[in-house]
Amino acid sequence: MSFVTESSINEDFVFLDKMSEHEQVVFCNDKATGLRAIIAIHNTTLGPALGGCRMQPYRSLDAALNDVLRLSKGMSYKCAAADVDFGGGKAVIIGDPLTDKSPELFRAFGQFVESLGGRFYTGTDMGTTMDDFVYAKKETNNIVGVPEAYGGSGDSSIPTATGVLGGIKATNQILFGKDNLQGVTYAIQGLGKVGFKVAEGLLDEGADLYVTDINEKSIQAIQERAKTMSGSVKVVSNNDIYSQEADVFVPCAFGGIVNDDTISQFKVKAIAGSANNQLATEEHGIQLAEKGILYAPDYIINSGGLIQVADELYGANKERVLMKTREIYNVILKVYQEAELNQITTMEAANQICEKLMEGRGKRNSFYTPSIKPKWDIRK
Ligand code: NAD
Repeated sequence: MSFVTESSINEDFVFLDKMSEHEQVVFCNDKATGLRAIIAIHNTTLGPALGGCRMQPYRSLDAALNDVLRLSKGMSYKCAAADVDFGGGKAVIIGDPLTDKSPELFRAFGQFVESLGGRFYTGTDMGTTMDDFVYAKKETNNIVGVPEAYGGSGDSSIPTATGVLGGIKATNQILFGKDNLQGVTYAIQGLGKVGFKVAEGLLDEGADLYVTDINEKSIQAIQERAKTMSGSVKVVSNNDIYSQEADVFVPCAFGGIVNDDTISQFKVKAIAGSANNQLATEEHGIQLAEKGILYAPDYIINSGGLIQVADELYGANKERVLMKTREIYNVILKVYQEAELNQITTMEAANQICEKLMEGRGKRNSFYTPSIKPKWDIRK
């Protein structure tokens, strides 16, 4: 028998308080496969929730819950900014991606997704791969971003890089009054799936780059590529990338790179890159503005991949994805203009634009329920 104590009641309230902004939080447990997961649906005003599924060996249930609540809220804003008809959601699987994966585990996860009846769509994120979701897709159609051979739309880093290049053009428009990529210098951190394509796009226009990566093969590859293009590449060390005398810093490796250590090192006029959660805290966004560094909000400039996976649900179409991804240029311009007009940070301006979109639509429908009822609907 367990006793309810005053302290356990308080803990319960803290727990509920954390979820108060969310529409629905589902704890998934399947003994047979060892699946332990949480699905969080933050807001479906704009449509069914969409967001990737992470797999990590979280230290505690609380750590997993915090992560999924924070990430699913971020997806509501990202979907609103990208103008896709989806709301914000996210899932986390508690487990080690190196040792705890099995086809059965992802099929069980797919069944939980299916049980939400179309209120949640998901796909890969940190620790999960497209192949994992091929198994989940055997149990539910509400999966995006699988390989093209399984009906997906393929490599999402292509539209992500296109969107980043558009965001950089908008940034140059504000900084220099013209949106050419040429004649501006860039410091690129990370030459992976997105960073390499961004570097190629810039070199193609004749831009001069400082680059860094921990992977020597990526460095060699971009040096080779530069030989056939009009721009130039200078390799710098991982630590020196923050202090380069470039115009724009382009973070394409990991989050939290605008922090107490780096902020005093930046000599750039702007930061515009693909990495998620670039600001270590909101306060760092204010510090960037005080230093006169223009910041392209990460969840807008890197939304090309999201646009692609959201588009799959209309039947994958690369032309339509490109057309929508090009809009990122205009959204970033609007964010800069609103921030200037209202004397707020660009992150605050981005959040306000997204909140207005959700409020406006909320007057017609405050949350999403699938219009097609399951065949076994007992209410009939
Ligand atoms: P990736 O893993 O392919 O590339 C990351 C690159 O950064 C790698 O080449 C890696 O070697 C390098 N790197 C890691 N640590 C480094 C360090 N200390 N210094 C320099 N380089 C380092 O990842 P990606 O898909 O290209 O994504 C890059 C970033 O963009 C991530 O933050 C990701 O979350 C974000 N993002 C990606 C997409 C997408 O479509 N792939 C969409 C939205 C956001």
